[in-house]
Amino acid sequence: MAEENTKAASGKIKEEEVKKVALTFDDGPNPDHTETLLEGLKERNVKATFFLLGAECEKYPEIVKKIHADGHLIGVHSYEHVNLSNLTDQAAMEQVDKTDQIIFGLTGEHAQYIRPPYGCWKCNLDYETKMIEVLWDVDPLDWKTDNSSVIAKRVMDKVQENDIILLHDASESSVNAAFQIIDELHGEGYSFVTVEELILE
Ligand SMILES: [Zn+2]
Repeated sequence: MAEENTKAASGKIKEEEVKKVALTFDDGPNPDHTETLLEGLKERNVKATFFLLGAECEKYPEIVKKIHADGHLIGVHSYEHVNLSNLTDQAAMEQVDKTDQIIFGLTGEHAQYIRPPYGCWKCNLDYETKMIEVLWDVDPLDWKTDNSSVIAKRVMDKVQENDIILLHDASESSVNAAFQIIDELHGEGYSFVTVEELILE
């Protein structure tokens, strides 16, 4: 707490001294965990990026609206959780376009970013969508453990400036890990931005 006060008193940190990092959450919206995550992000004044599943957006539209209202960036994951590179071009584009239409219907904005499930994407699809593919730099495999400290440590051991961190708002441990990661990285002087802010730099 004392350290925070000293920082505030010493005035604004210069732009070039701010280290940026982006938190991303796949597979939502999740009826059990996304809203808890949103509350914690708000408390910590953190903006993140959510790659959503169209089928889940249809089930939980209010959560999607909340993500958007809170100022987070929304991108497409797919409609169902499928490996797009195993589909025909047409079927893959349907997964993407259908999800974008649902997001547009709920938020009034088209998605500009896509993270394909498993990071699998076909190069030829780049010609058929203007969406920018976003992968990740740090993957703690959060879905493989229910220990939030383990997840947080895997991220903290690896994370560097301008990294994109992959998490899922699909379990309590992942959400708690996100809060631990934020608190530790804030302590190290990092600031959290959307992937758009990282990419536009
Ligand atoms: Zn996924």
